[in-house]
Amino acid sequence: MKVLVIGNGGREHALAWKLKKSKSVDEIYMARGNGGTENFAKNIDIDPKDINELLEFAENKKIDLTVVGPEDPLCMGIVDAFNEKGLKIFGPNKECARFEKSKEFTKKFLEKYSIPTAKYKSFKNYEDAINGLIEFNYPLVVKADGLCLGKGVMICHEESEAEDALKKIFKDKIFGDEGSTVVIEEFLTGEEASVLCLVSNNKLFPLERAKDHKQIYDNNKGPNTGGVGTYSPVSVSPELEKNLEKIYRKIEDGLESEKLNYSGILFIGFMIEDDRPKVLEFNVRFGDPETEVLMPRLDSDLFEILNKTIDGKLKKEDIKWKEETCLTVILCSGGYPGSYEKGKEICGLDKVDEDIMVFHNGTKKTDSLYTNGGRVLSVTALGKDLKEAREKAYANAHRINFDGIYFRKDIGIK
Ligand code: ATP
Repeated sequence: MKVLVIGNGGREHALAWKLKKSKSVDEIYMARGNGGTENFAKNIDIDPKDINELLEFAENKKIDLTVVGPEDPLCMGIVDAFNEKGLKIFGPNKECARFEKSKEFTKKFLEKYSIPTAKYKSFKNYEDAINGLIEFNYPLVVKADGLCLGKGVMICHEESEAEDALKKIFKDKIFGDEGSTVVIEEFLTGEEASVLCLVSNNKLFPLERAKDHKQIYDNNKGPNTGGVGTYSPVSVSPELEKNLEKIYRKIEDGLESEKLNYSGILFIGFMIEDDRPKVLEFNVRFGDPETEVLMPRLDSDLFEILNKTIDGKLKKEDIKWKEETCLTVILCSGGYPGSYEKGKEICGLDKVDEDIMVFHNGTKKTDSLYTNGGRVLSVTALGKDLKEAREKAYANAHRINFDGIYFRKDIGIK
């Protein structure tokens, strides 16, 4: 079978790596892939947002399954376009991708189906939003409705900050049309966690938990990043598990009642306080770096699982996990998440142990391997417990080098 994976980060590398292990998969194409995927897949030079070209490629090559990594093509309707041509593709359709494309859409859904979430109001213009501030205490959260590359959420500690945030979105239009609606939200406290669910025929199948580390510095200090380390599994109290289950059932009921036809991945971001989870956000694709630790732990055939999900036939017992713990530490370019330089030569990958998986987040291969992003490599290890996985990942991370390399030293140390 031939598979096309769309995207070029560590998430897509991990998905392709796992698909390659399937007995059914013969060939993998990546659009565009990265310096790591070209070792076992064929990187093709098509922009992940160029749906027409991707469609033409999939038709010509007779691709049996296309797997979409990033949200952009999903929100643009790649799944609908492939389905129209009878091509099999993993991910939600355009209608369902609104759960990521519009924060207002998600908040309305959560409210309608009594799913715990922060109190909110949405606004379409500056004046109304300013007048609406009075209804909230500080800190509050101002969110541009659309896709803003993780920059669309502003936590405001006083009125002047909130006014400034609203001015930037409505008047200066820093997010363009993605900021034409604004959600103002109550600030929630607690611990953030996320759950990835496979969704087959509107039924949620939660995958094992992974613990993300968002801040750039040790002890969760410094600015937020796309995620700089993670591990799985994470233990969950029975009370929390029970409350999460209630939320999953309400989401399923909501999907059914709205006559949506959700298929693919639903990434649920939670804020949890005293075992009571509230939904912060939905994303409609695999998480990065969660995928980098979930794929090595998955004990089932990913190709089969994705096909069953699409066909609406997935069952709980189809998804099996290894007992081992998996941990990944992400090697970053110096300066990230602020400005950083690309094009630094990467050395030492040949010194990495055979059982270590190095997923590439941002690399490019020409005469040698070079950095090509803020997050560069995910050094990933399986171990009998968290300690062993951590020791293996760090021992190998220290063997890799490039100019300006930085990584957190405390992933997996509680
Ligand atoms: P973008 O649209 O820019 O990509 P995003 O999808 O990353 O944004 P969210 O995930 O909704 O936006 O929010 C980003 C982060 O902001 C969350 O991970 C959380 O840390 C913080 N946050 C969001 N909403 C709240 C809230 N109501 N209370 C406290 N913190 C919040």
